[in-house]
Amino acid sequence: MIRFEQVTKRYPDGTTAVDGLSFEVAQGELVTLVGPSGCGKTTTMMMVNRLIEPTSGRILLDGEDIADVDPVRLRRRIGYVIQQVGLFPHRTVLDNTATVPALIGWRRTKARARAAELLELVGLDPKTYGPRYPHQLSGGQRQRVGVARALAADPPVLLMDEPFGAVDPVVREQLQDEFLRMQAAVRKTVLLVTHDIEEAVRLGDRIAVYGQGRIEQYDTPGAVLGTPASPYVAEFVGADRGLKRLSVTAIEEGDLEQPPVVRPDERAARAAARLRADGARWAVVLDADGDLHGWVGLDELGADGVDAVVGALAHRMKAWVPVGAPLKQAFGVMLQHDAGWVAVLDGAHFLGVLTPAKLHEALRRSVDADAQGVARGQVDFDSVSDA
Ligand code: ADP
Ligand code: MG
Repeated sequence: MIRFEQVTKRYPDGTTAVDGLSFEVAQGELVTLVGPSGCGKTTTMMMVNRLIEPTSGRILLDGEDIADVDPVRLRRRIGYVIQQVGLFPHRTVLDNTATVPALIGWRRTKARARAAELLELVGLDPKTYGPRYPHQLSGGQRQRVGVARALAADPPVLLMDEPFGAVDPVVREQLQDEFLRMQAAVRKTVLLVTHDIEEAVRLGDRIAVYGQGRIEQYDTPGAVLGTPASPYVAEFVGADRGLKRLSVTAIEEGDLEQPPVVRPDERAARAAARLRADGARWAVVLDADGDLHGWVGLDELGADGVDAVVGALAHRMKAWVPVGAPLKQAFGVMLQHDAGWVAVLDGAHFLGVLTPAKLHEALRRSVDADAQGVARGQVDFDSVSDA
């Protein structure tokens, strides 16, 4: 979709901002460009919509050299979001969002209907926020309007330069989550610049780690964290990359343990006898379909004089996560509920429990998988600039 071929940008004062850059972004892929300030990220981005022209090399969009495309027409195919947002202060949020459709000649009603739809998509009720002016919004809300505006003409490509940089960490995480949800629905081809490795890892299908004017590693978040290509990358992603890895490794069914199971309509005394025979201290309570009702401890089941069915004694399972969730989420839930394990569900269906030991195993598995992947010579490396 976007292809850089040996692209170099030298500014008139002699600064080489980008040096022989070659990489490719597939359609529908979200690639994060991450690196320290001044390493050439913004320059890279602005060459895609021709706000900056390369000194040499070429950039292809959908196979077409963008140097041959009229810049105005080019920019209609490319949404652009910047940190300072740049909303028009004297126009309402709705009109700000409708800017590009209006520019390209959509009828006013159609442009405004589209704008309302987009505001909804980024989590702003158009009735409440549409009539407001930018100064009547929080920083996070303004940023959302910026994203809505960039998407308004439905461009296949989205360029985002530090889009969540200006908001506090909590709002930032919310915006990131919302953006990921939105991206899952609209599947734009996205280049997103950040100086924050956490953000790069969280958002990117692939990450380009920049050194000075060049890409040091271009790979999946898991591979960058697991097998940094150079001491520079290792240093940049940090010593806590094992922790960061938790957020990109998903829970799989094979990671789970199977605790004893009892039925809600089973007599407590019988269930207790079974648990004792198995040497178990507790069990999950599942109905005949395998849906989770909760959990129950041997102490309650086997207490003197108890004459009840299991269902009446079961506790709600507070510590649970959906299958496919990142290990980090499971770890967080474990800590939050001070639990020795978390249940993993597929909808209401119980799949098993994740224990700390299994969590560690899953982490190891993902490190090993990436190490092997790299040894096989990952395809992506072909397109990274020659080192
Ligand atoms: P980043 O976005 O990674 O912080 P930039 O792409 O903005 O980096 O800048 C890369 C390098 O190019 C820096 O050294 C910066 O000072 C320089 N630079 C950026 N714009 C200009 C310009 N218009 N003229 C001269 N040098 C520039
Ligand atoms: Mg920049």
